[in-house]
Amino acid sequence: MATLYWEEEIETLPRVGLESIQLKRLQALVARVYETVEPYRRKMVAAGIEPGDIRQLSDLQKLPFTTKDDLRDNYPFGMFTMGLDDVVRVHASSGTTGKPTVVGYTKKDIDTWANLMARALTCAGASRGDMVHNAYGYGLFTGGLGAHYGAEKLGATVIPVSGGNSKRQITIMKDFGSTVLLSTPSYALNLAEAMEAMGIDPASLSLRVGIFGAEPWSENMREEVERKLNIKAVDIYGLSEVIGPGVAQECLQSSGGMHIFEDHFLPEIIDPQTGEALPHGERGELVFTTLTKEAFPVIRYRTKDISTLHTQTCNCGRTLVRMDKVTGRTDDMLIIRGVNVFPSQVEHVLMGIEGVEPHYQIIVERQGTMDTMSVEVEVSETLFSDEIKELEQLTRRITRDIKDILGVTCQVRLVNPRSIQRSEGKAQRVIDKRQI
Ligand SMILES: [Zn+2]
Repeated sequence: MATLYWEEEIETLPRVGLESIQLKRLQALVARVYETVEPYRRKMVAAGIEPGDIRQLSDLQKLPFTTKDDLRDNYPFGMFTMGLDDVVRVHASSGTTGKPTVVGYTKKDIDTWANLMARALTCAGASRGDMVHNAYGYGLFTGGLGAHYGAEKLGATVIPVSGGNSKRQITIMKDFGSTVLLSTPSYALNLAEAMEAMGIDPASLSLRVGIFGAEPWSENMREEVERKLNIKAVDIYGLSEVIGPGVAQECLQSSGGMHIFEDHFLPEIIDPQTGEALPHGERGELVFTTLTKEAFPVIRYRTKDISTLHTQTCNCGRTLVRMDKVTGRTDDMLIIRGVNVFPSQVEHVLMGIEGVEPHYQIIVERQGTMDTMSVEVEVSETLFSDEIKELEQLTRRITRDIKDILGVTCQVRLVNPRSIQRSEGKAQRVIDKRQI
């Protein structure tokens, strides 16, 4: 029988107690980075702030933000609080442009991380005795090793299968009796397709739950994954700059949203344009301050992820704040003829239409001074063999729904089943061909 909590006391602590822990940890953190990390000290001095100015949690808002640019400017180890003697591991995330961002961990940081991933897995209903099929990539990316250490800490059996080679993954799933799947949601769909091609009925497998993260995905995509893999699909959140996977986890009882492990990560929602902190319940950019990390803490790190925070106690009894599913990124946001468009909104429209597969690509081009958006969408095998007239109708319907919901006119092209390239990690949804 799976237990409900990994660390019951802290996960269900009344908020006043939690906030008192957060304040003590924040004060210690600010004092420590002021002493040890020159770029933080420089920014605080410029803003006229000293560690002693942090007297209550809301004083956090006086501190300057940290961005990916700060990490790049101090590449590779300039934001670490200590020399490499005490750093036992580094990870790096590949930037689409320029240098990667590098993060480091002490022995204690690795322990903290494993513990939080064990907490996340428990929150998703996993326990000792589970066979954890870890299809996150192993390597510089934090997904694979982060989930791996957490599953071991939990006492589950880990299959470090990593990404790729879907056929072999399915054979292993079947032969080893995998019960918990960890991967990106788009890779989970990829596995479902491969399973179908191999003639394997997902109901004949032991898979029970999938914990999916590392890319934004919609509620519709959740339904699709649940149906095609015959599992319960829950969301996990994390990013390497904050620690990796295990920052927040959706529980099985939740009516939506992931519990942020707030005793370690202090969240804020800000207006991405003005930087102003927004009250709970409002949608904006998620910002994190790490409260317990030793080697590489961050203060007010701007994630560029768009979400909302909710503080009502959850059905599961956890008092930890919940963040909504990430619905987009401030840097993914496309501005098409003055209208803000998130790829997740396009996905939401597509998933609501029968006969459309969850594989699509958005192509943005500039013709003269005019931006145009086209959407390539795969249709199902059955629909594709049908009459041209039906396909034309479908094209019109998608064009109209996108116009209605996003306020943008786009060109829709239906493409053959399986013609859009499948990803083994994060799906590439947008191809921006504009030369600006
Ligand atoms: Zn809950």
